[in-house]
Amino acid sequence: MDGGRLNGKVVLVTGGASGIGAACVTRMADEGAFVVSTDIAPQDEEQSDAALCLQHDVADEDQWIAAIAATLERYGRLDVLVNNAGITFRQPIEDASLEDWNRMIGINLTGTMLGCKHGVRAMRDNPGGPSGSIINMSSMAGMIGMAQAPGYNATKGGVRLLTKSVAVRCATEYRGIRCNSLHPGAIDTPIHEPRLSGAEDRDAARASMDLLQPVGRMGTAQEIAACVVFLASDDASFVTGAELVADGGWLADGGSTR
Ligand code: NAD
Repeated sequence: MDGGRLNGKVVLVTGGASGIGAACVTRMADEGAFVVSTDIAPQDEEQSDAALCLQHDVADEDQWIAAIAATLERYGRLDVLVNNAGITFRQPIEDASLEDWNRMIGINLTGTMLGCKHGVRAMRDNPGGPSGSIINMSSMAGMIGMAQAPGYNATKGGVRLLTKSVAVRCATEYRGIRCNSLHPGAIDTPIHEPRLSGAEDRDAARASMDLLQPVGRMGTAQEIAACVVFLASDDASFVTGAELVADGGWLADGGSTR
């Protein structure tokens, strides 16, 4: 697309098969980027707006090395990395399963760390010098405590501070590389299906999720993709180490989980 905000940029989005990741793939391609969509789930390249689809478990370092290598082989550079893949479990601390905890840490936190590590290496070596933007998908769960989500809280809080560490390192060492975290409120995607389908009254469960946000509704994946585009674009050239909250006013309202 001529005049797109990401014209010619090479973008890698993890978790691109569903929800927010899929919306990022579509929007970033519309903005003129060459998008590599990776996911642990198989993707139908014919149906995807991505230029390249890769199967990729973000918790596995060898698979990160392979995904970045495939991107560089195809496009010769990496301009934007969206560390989006994530999972959640709802378990209060006294019922926390160690297996679920370790799985969530592996995907949400270690997966983001590995993405930053290999993304920075690629961006550092970009033709023309270090440049790029990394967007790490945190959450409102990275800002406030949630009684049912200690593991998710821990991973998303970790992502928030990992982001600042990477941002400071890159700002001082590789001036053109930025790293920011994004903190969505409740967004209408398949991640909430287990909670909704497990509820006695699905409509009531859905309404309570809508009401977390003072605006009275969940956000859409497209609204989060729009924030990702801003952070990825040169419009955000002075924005690094920042937290972009997109939550329909939830945090401003005190972050109550009611
Ligand atoms: P989603 O379930 O629709 O999509 C998540 C994607 O991640 C899926 O395609 C899944 O296959 C993929 N994935 C899971 N494990 C993976 C792994 N090991 N390696 C690679 N891919 C893997 O969920 P979503 O709502 O679009 O969530 C995307 C991100 O946004 C997550 O990090 C989530 O924590 C975060 N987030 C979501 C919300 C929300 O309310 N939906 C709010 C705040 C933050």
